[in-house]
Amino acid sequence: MKTVLTKSPIEAAEFIKRGGAVAFPTETVYGLGANVFDEKAIGKIFEAKKRPNDNPLIAHVGNFGQIEALVSEITPSAQKFIEAFFPAPLTLVLPKAERVPFAATAHLETIGVRMPKTALALEFLRHCETPLVAPSANLSGRPSPTTWQAVYEDLTGRIECILQGGETTEIGLESTVVDCTANAPLILRAGSITLEDLQKIVPDTRIYRASKNEQPKSPGLKHRHYSPRARVVLVSDLRFRVSNRSAYIGLNEPCEKFDLIKICRSVEDYAHQFFKFFRECDHRHIREIYCETVEEKGIGLALMDRLKRAAEGGAASS
Ligand code: AMP
Ligand code: MG
Repeated sequence: MKTVLTKSPIEAAEFIKRGGAVAFPTETVYGLGANVFDEKAIGKIFEAKKRPNDNPLIAHVGNFGQIEALVSEITPSAQKFIEAFFPAPLTLVLPKAERVPFAATAHLETIGVRMPKTALALEFLRHCETPLVAPSANLSGRPSPTTWQAVYEDLTGRIECILQGGETTEIGLESTVVDCTANAPLILRAGSITLEDLQKIVPDTRIYRASKNEQPKSPGLKHRHYSPRARVVLVSDLRFRVSNRSAYIGLNEPCEKFDLIKICRSVEDYAHQFFKFFRECDHRHIREIYCETVEEKGIGLALMDRLKRAAEGGAASS
């Protein structure tokens, strides 16, 4: 299959209308979209990404009316979050409407819904005239794509079209996912909308932690994620010995010499940069990436979540 590159949201939307899969930029990372009501198109996403089929997709909407078409109920906490934040890097998990196919939700009775913020994403969604399910536009397990070139690297020849926008540095991390089906909202995945932000709107909001032996509430949490080919090592003390072909990313200058170094201005900047840095390390055949740990609060919680899971993954195979 030839992957068409375009800067036109109108041209990209035509591919969606014909049942295709299209990558598009949002304020978080590039998503890979398909019509939420088209099971065949949804199948293409799983195939192109080599995504495990028990991993649900997030539905992206371009207006408030589309939320009602996707869910059977907007719970009181969800209503408050929508009013306070949407459009935002925030996904709300709600009971799904009957007409939403189970292909979109990996057979769950719930669906994650979000309204992205960037003008290009909203314009694209408007031309699609339907909500889109859109996971990150990378091969499963690889670092999420923050540039169209990263999408191209993983998915060229596997999807119909890439809508070319700029780098997604506004956030650079996937959305915060909050389960709003119960009385107290539960954060299933940390993101740039923080626990503190959410508690200002609904004080009962908590972070979900799976107890041992329990199936995780958010199926995606059990899969390997975000991994470059290099081994990822987390370090808090900057006096350590490094091997050949090593790279470093963090807030402080390390003591050792590295083949590649990125010093970030702030935790936010670190969160914007590290996916791209991981891919750059792969291009340069780096074998180990040392990542400085940060305090697990605010966006630091989301960053540490991604770094820990990239470190758990070990060397990626796909
Ligand atoms: P991705 O779009 O690849 O960043 O992944 C989306 C993630 O959102 C999934 O891996 C899940 O962890 C979470 N998610 C999406 N929909 C649901 C849902 N209905 N219930 C719980 N978690 C969800
Ligand atoms: Mg992903």
